[in-house]
Amino acid sequence: MGDGDGVGVGEGVGDGVGEGVGLGVGDGVGDGVGVGSGARVMTMAPALTRTARRMRPANVSRPARDLKRFMGGPSYRLPSADRPLLDSPAMPGFSTRAIRAASRAPDAPQPPVNVPIYQTSTFEMADADELAELLAFERPGHSYSRYSNPTHAALEEALGELEGAEAALITASGMAAMHSVVLSLLASGDEIIVPRAVYGGMVSLTTSILERSGMRHRAVDTTDPAQIQAAINVRTRLIWLETISNPTTAVADIESVANLAHAHGVLVAVDNTFASPAIVNPLSTGADIVVHSLTKYIGGHSDLMGGAVLGAADRVAAARHVVINAGGNAAPFEAFLALRGLKTLALRMERHSANALAVADALQGAPGVARVLYPGLASHPQHALAMRTFRAGMAGGMLAIELEGGRAHGERFLDRLRVAVHATSLGSVETLVSHPASSSHRQLDDEELAAGGMSTGTMRISIGIEDAADLIEDLVGAARPVT
Ligand code: PLP
Repeated sequence: MGDGDGVGVGEGVGDGVGEGVGLGVGDGVGDGVGVGSGARVMTMAPALTRTARRMRPANVSRPARDLKRFMGGPSYRLPSADRPLLDSPAMPGFSTRAIRAASRAPDAPQPPVNVPIYQTSTFEMADADELAELLAFERPGHSYSRYSNPTHAALEEALGELEGAEAALITASGMAAMHSVVLSLLASGDEIIVPRAVYGGMVSLTTSILERSGMRHRAVDTTDPAQIQAAINVRTRLIWLETISNPTTAVADIESVANLAHAHGVLVAVDNTFASPAIVNPLSTGADIVVHSLTKYIGGHSDLMGGAVLGAADRVAAARHVVINAGGNAAPFEAFLALRGLKTLALRMERHSANALAVADALQGAPGVARVLYPGLASHPQHALAMRTFRAGMAGGMLAIELEGGRAHGERFLDRLRVAVHATSLGSVETLVSHPASSSHRQLDDEELAAGGMSTGTMRISIGIEDAADLIEDLVGAARPVT
């Protein structure tokens, strides 16, 4: 029995399921260990007496399953001078106690300002029905983190709100988001229309994965409605767009393409990675699905990998089904970082946009630079569309430049950089420069590069949030002709 009033060994003894957990009520805490016999000796929870239950503060509402846990509160005996031992035949062994003691998730009556990282692969079930219903998404909650996780859910809700989507799914990477969308909508014999100027990962997905499974793709210039119209046929299921294309910064007319696609019963998915939800919300102008690489602007600091799918609940559920069964699920820590990134996304996009415009302006006509592609420049082919459809006149941080001296000039450009970093990826606080012909689009030959609006001298620049003057000096200096 306890050495104080009110709590002692109770109903749990010997039935294998300790009914209660001491909550440290009053100063009388029982030894807290039930003892049974044979195979049924497992009741280790100190059970609450009726008095203790009555004394439990009304606002303490631990879930019922938590109450079943042994040692669920500070009720088991602590060592002291007169009672030095936790170890006794009546106590579970140290290993058992350590695992249980370190598994109790605390209640947090005061909500934390930031979303906690639920770094757990699995969740404790009350009974078999609960697990079955959770696995079928028939009740709220979480069973296994490949299916869902509270930190993922918080990010999904936040992204859904910011993209104006009914539902969202986060994934391990942008590519996982992309393959989940494509595989949820296409079957063998179906076709997808993709832009000629598109992220190289999409080229690889369509050519090396989808084609092998009998899913065909047609690459067209998606800024030309006539080419899209000509490519649509009875097998077309999906048109893929990038709000701002990687790397040539072609701007998609999402509304026009969606109207055209929907007239043929075809869906439109938009990769909104380059714009981010701070600049464009494709669902609001007719897109059916949006995907993101969270790795880029949403994370914003080159320190996470992640992706997202957004849209109507049934479409997102179909993508989730692919991720659950084919892999590519997100990680809680990455979701936490993406949530943190979201808080400063608007500020960063403003600075990225202002810096990129200043740099693009300076690079136009600079020695060694044949062409600058940036939607914020009046010289950009879709400048008017961008200014009409992008929020607050921001055009984002991505620009492409064409160096006069081709591949050798590109390599020299990278060597000369002092502020900007030569690295693949984009959308981060630091300026990142890459050479598509040897990195993101290395799978394309010269002819394919040209079809996508690139050459061996194309440089992709992801403008960061450093001081614009330093970036201008660095990039204009690096671009000077190779002698
Ligand atoms: N979409 C775009 C436009 C990208 O640039 C990238 C990667 O560079 C991806 C998707 C793929 O994202 P991740 O690298 O997170 O898989």
